[in-house]
Amino acid sequence: MIFRQLYDHESSTYTYLVAERIGGEALLIDPVLGNTDQYVQLVNDLELKLVLAVDTHIHADHVTALGRLRDQTNCASAMGEMTNADCVSIHFREGERLCVDNLHLEILYTPGHTDDSYSFVLPDRVFTGDTLLIRGTGRTDFQNGDPAAQYDSLFNKLLKLPDQTLVYPAHDYQGRTVSSIWEEKRHNPRLQVPDKQAYIDLMSGLELDNPRLMDIAVPANRSCGLKAAA
Ligand code: FE
Repeated sequence: MIFRQLYDHESSTYTYLVAERIGGEALLIDPVLGNTDQYVQLVNDLELKLVLAVDTHIHADHVTALGRLRDQTNCASAMGEMTNADCVSIHFREGERLCVDNLHLEILYTPGHTDDSYSFVLPDRVFTGDTLLIRGTGRTDFQNGDPAAQYDSLFNKLLKLPDQTLVYPAHDYQGRTVSSIWEEKRHNPRLQVPDKQAYIDLMSGLELDNPRLMDIAVPANRSCGLKAAA
């Protein structure tokens, strides 16, 4: 498998390039508009064909490259069925798969950070978006966030994956690149709660500033970043 973790310094976002083999099909997860040229260059360098670009959810902290990638490469663009964005060519749902050649990413609906948050599962790793972060979890205080739903997504879906599953989040603000389900179960402070109510209380007690780009990014991302790009 070809796997690349790419980093956007401005928003601390991780973007993932996944392909089965040199010369084959490629998938980009959570691409950032400002880095579009870098992605296209890498795809070309590896002699890949970008067939699909997806977002785990509507991001509030950066503008997506989905629209521009589709324009530049003719790839399909996809977001979940719960995402309020008619600019994408595909809406996926839980139980379906994202496929590049013989790699198949199982789709899990993992709401809580937003009501349109999804995770993608390969046999050895999971892309958790902002649902499960390394030693943290995504905030639940805007974009129809819901700590009770996030508790269910975490404890009844993501933490049920095998312990050795690698965790690749959409962000890290301290330079950490990867974790595992085992590690997060033991060391993620947000997951050391006795029950759902304790998690709701914990999340409801956080007092966080809105992301700097929120008022720009959310409306732009409903148009796959194309209005912002214009
Ligand atoms: Fe987010």
